[in-house]
Amino acid sequence: METAIYVIGWANNALLVALSVLTVLLARRTGTRTGRLLAAAVVTFTIGTLTGWLPWAVGETTAHEWFSKGRLLVQFLVPYLLLRLAHAFDPFRTTTMRIATAAVIAISVLVVGMPVNFADPEVDITRGVAAVALGAYIVWVVSALVAVAVRFRSTGRGQPGAIRSRMYLLSAATVAMLLAYITAFAAVVVEPFTLQVASMLLVAASTIAFVAGVAPTTTMRLRWRREEEHELRGAITALMAADTREEVLDTVIPTVRRVVGASAVAFLHGDGAIERVDGSTPRAEALLLDALGDRATIDATAPDQVSVVPFGASRLALRTTPATPLVGDVELELLAWVGSVVELALARCAHLAEDRAVTERLREVDRLKNEFVQIVAHDLRSPMAAVSGLAGTLHDRWDDLDHDTKLTMLDHIGSSTQRMADLVVDVLDIARIESGELRYDLAPFDMRAVVQQVADDLETGVGTVRIRLALEDELPLALGDERRHRQVVANLLGNALKYSPEDEPVRVSVAVDTDSLVVEVRDHGDGIAEDAQSRIFEKFGRAVERGDATPGSGLGLYICKAMVEAQGGRIWVESTPGAGSTFRFTAPIASH
Ligand code: ADP
Repeated sequence: METAIYVIGWANNALLVALSVLTVLLARRTGTRTGRLLAAAVVTFTIGTLTGWLPWAVGETTAHEWFSKGRLLVQFLVPYLLLRLAHAFDPFRTTTMRIATAAVIAISVLVVGMPVNFADPEVDITRGVAAVALGAYIVWVVSALVAVAVRFRSTGRGQPGAIRSRMYLLSAATVAMLLAYITAFAAVVVEPFTLQVASMLLVAASTIAFVAGVAPTTTMRLRWRREEEHELRGAITALMAADTREEVLDTVIPTVRRVVGASAVAFLHGDGAIERVDGSTPRAEALLLDALGDRATIDATAPDQVSVVPFGASRLALRTTPATPLVGDVELELLAWVGSVVELALARCAHLAEDRAVTERLREVDRLKNEFVQIVAHDLRSPMAAVSGLAGTLHDRWDDLDHDTKLTMLDHIGSSTQRMADLVVDVLDIARIESGELRYDLAPFDMRAVVQQVADDLETGVGTVRIRLALEDELPLALGDERRHRQVVANLLGNALKYSPEDEPVRVSVAVDTDSLVVEVRDHGDGIAEDAQSRIFEKFGRAVERGDATPGSGLGLYICKAMVEAQGGRIWVESTPGAGSTFRFTAPIASH
């Protein structure tokens, strides 16, 4: 029996030493606080265990008292170090930690300072100071380990699989450690062989579980993430049905966060611009954005880490907590793969959006065309009806009508036909302007001559002279298409005559303003209400109601604006209702 205990005991000691070395190496490699704390706990525990064996091994009975006190001391420290480990994963309140530190110091002083030899089999540990010390020891160990186990469990609860499984494993390891303590203590009191063996096995299992929890292997991490990876596969299938960028990112980013076990993730463009952020809490999101330099600094108390990893052609910023298991090569590969799928889905959405925009544009063009055709048809109908009506009357009543009436009717036919012809010309101009086919032959020309000629044309055959020209003698040449400018001047001048009383003059002037010529057409008509002043430059825009006494299509100024602007000029109106309007446009001066 003795020999069996010896063999199992030393095998256990050898395992603890091996695990101590392993945790120290791990701590050095990962450089994390949790790694260091675990190494400290395992090494301390191993020292405590070895200390318990050494006196018997060396056979030094006088040293027993101090060896056994040292061993107890070490055993206080282990729950304390585990408490710190849980604290590193998910911080306790500062006061809780302070109380724990004070308690462990107080009990240590009590045990070490007491003149009791716990190794002496003659000492009655159920009485006196020895009982008090042992009582304190038990209360401390049990309460500290229970607190640690509960803490690990609560840290994992409700978290993604990667974090949950890890924390639950650490919680189970703590429970095993607590049971090891209890069985070891029971073994001291009743001393059956099985209890001693059970205690050793529990210690071994607990230590291995702690190591696995702090530094899980790739296989364990993959297993822990299975649930979320399943969810991720579902999300990726759903991507094929996503139509918009938002939908794609909404479907994938939160799942990716859970797979990794990050507290927040951000989807970044190649240039670092943040498109989407998703966090377990708004604060986690804010902290990530803060770390990425998007906001004013928030005081981040948790020692979390932000890393930016490749995600297809884009990148992901991950804010991980100490509870997040390592994001290693396997995870990076998974993220890169998901990233490529997301990229494809985003490209598909971009195409869809483009298609939608094109369809929308085509629909709009179609609508405008229909509207255009309707208005033109409407505007053609009245002069056409006039022509056919007058022609019919002339035909039926040719002999009854006197000479002057016939002439008037023929004049009407002439002007109506002219209106229809003008409308057709306007419609053709607009079609060419809108398709970009209207060409401008830019060359220096004399604006004075253009204005003069248009005025002459308009007044030829008209009895009264209403147009007053104010042209400076020396004007530089303008640069543009002379024919198109003539069209613009004719339109403005024609409107001024059309929309003002017949006895009111219309003034036209041309002046120089820095590097352009300004042509001004001023009338004393009814003017244009302010809200209509911008509308009149739009297609079919009229200040007066359609079908008003003054016939018009509302196309002239739209054409003027397109032509003036295409040649580098500007056109605008100033008008006071009741007092008249002043239209102005500019044309660049030709450089010498
Ligand atoms: P149209 O004269 O054939 O209706 P325009 O595009 O040339 O088309 O003019 C658009 C609208 O602007 C006119 O219907 C008219 O209401 C208003 N307008 C243009 N010039 C003047 C002006 N000199 N005085 C008052 N209103 C004007």
